[in-house]
Amino acid sequence: MTGSALFPSSEQRLAWTNRLTEMLSAAELRMAQGSVTPTFDRDAFAAELAGFDFDQPVAFEQLLEWTLAQMDHGVVHMTHPRYLGLFNPAPSFPAQCADRIAASFNPQLATATTSPAAVAIEAHVAGLLARRIGLAADAVGHFTSGGSEANNTALICALTRSEPDFAASGSRAFAGQPVFYISADSHLAWIKFAHMAGIGRSAVRLVATDGAGRMSADVLERAIAADRGQGCVPVMIVATAGTTSAGMIDPLAACGAIARRCGVWYHVDAAWGGALAASSRLRGKLAGIEAADSVTIDAHKWFATTMGCGMFLTAHPRALLAAFNVTTSYMPTASAIDPYMTTAQWSRRFVGLRLFLSLAAAGWAGHGAHVERAVELGHRLAERMREQGWTVANGAELAVVCLRPPAGSVTVREIVGRVVGSGGAWISAARFEGGDVIRACVTHGETSTHDIDAVATLLERARMG
Ligand SMILES: *Cc1c(COP(=O)(O)O)cnc(C)c1O
Repeated sequence: MTGSALFPSSEQRLAWTNRLTEMLSAAELRMAQGSVTPTFDRDAFAAELAGFDFDQPVAFEQLLEWTLAQMDHGVVHMTHPRYLGLFNPAPSFPAQCADRIAASFNPQLATATTSPAAVAIEAHVAGLLARRIGLAADAVGHFTSGGSEANNTALICALTRSEPDFAASGSRAFAGQPVFYISADSHLAWIKFAHMAGIGRSAVRLVATDGAGRMSADVLERAIAADRGQGCVPVMIVATAGTTSAGMIDPLAACGAIARRCGVWYHVDAAWGGALAASSRLRGKLAGIEAADSVTIDAHKWFATTMGCGMFLTAHPRALLAAFNVTTSYMPTASAIDPYMTTAQWSRRFVGLRLFLSLAAAGWAGHGAHVERAVELGHRLAERMREQGWTVANGAELAVVCLRPPAGSVTVREIVGRVVGSGGAWISAARFEGGDVIRACVTHGETSTHDIDAVATLLERARMG
């Protein structure tokens, strides 16, 4: 190799880049025709990995080939059209290109001084999305590592807004135990954010669902009153738009009205469901989201960017500054548009370009069609299974289908084990309203009706004793 191993000559880089592109393209074809699930030999792999002690450099071509071979059999193939799994997408091509561009220029987005164009692109796309879901005209947004960072940001904003002295004194600033409300069916990472924020895991109130997977507004309102009676300080209500296990949407307008009456922060966790906003046909399902103080939307879910790419959108730009503002002598500037002063991260990667290029290339309409297509394929799977005597536990209104096999079948766990073990598809087991269900979610932009019918056949075969 000319140049060094770390910094080869530009001719050499171009040759490697082209070679890698060809290898990736071949790997994609292999993957789509192969098993969704790996046949991974942990012991053999551990032994191979132990061979890398970094004492002797290894030829680069050999390294690329080795790495791609490990990806072939060492990961569940979320980019396979019959991966009907957790909200992980097959990434869009524009998003993949954006990753390459970001890796090449490696801009630092901590400040607008160092990367004015990149910071402006991110603010533009997040701001447009905030307005599309109906937040106020001056709403802002920023990109996060994922939904988790965005949700964590919501909690810090809510605590700081509820008790400004939380900034200086932490949880002892509160007159009583701060508490916040999430549905029992929400993404339970909220529990660790309570721990991380220093208010303790017991600050999380799990509100019962209504029998159909949605947070019960009545139970929520009673829980807040009971907590106030005990001297606790409610700080936030979180409604989920697209629950992880069943894709259900909490009663967004009712939760917003309760939050307003009680004077607490209203956050909508639309990590997955937020992409419905792209579809003019389906965006109405998010009605009520416009009342939110803040919203989480993951671009790396239904907007199909590469991971990790989340967003935090808020109608209260000053709340971000109150939560994350730090002044230092060494940063190039300190203005309210510098991401390091308004977000949890400091050094940051240009992840927003993925959604920018994706939306610019396909438009809202192209993304809307992507979402609608997944919903239609979900309906098709539900219909196929109903025809065979199965029950659709969650109504499958969106692209998540929760299934119960007919009486006399083997257990749900057994069916999942058989389907996943066959390598023909990836589905999972989940709990829905107290019972075990098989969960299948259409996440891939190229899953076909033929794929869906094949999954239906696999499921029906797997349920037989
Ligand atoms: C995925 C998801 C999260 C967590 O987001 P990450 O991007 O995995 O960090 C939180 N809430 C909901 C509703 C989700 O779907």
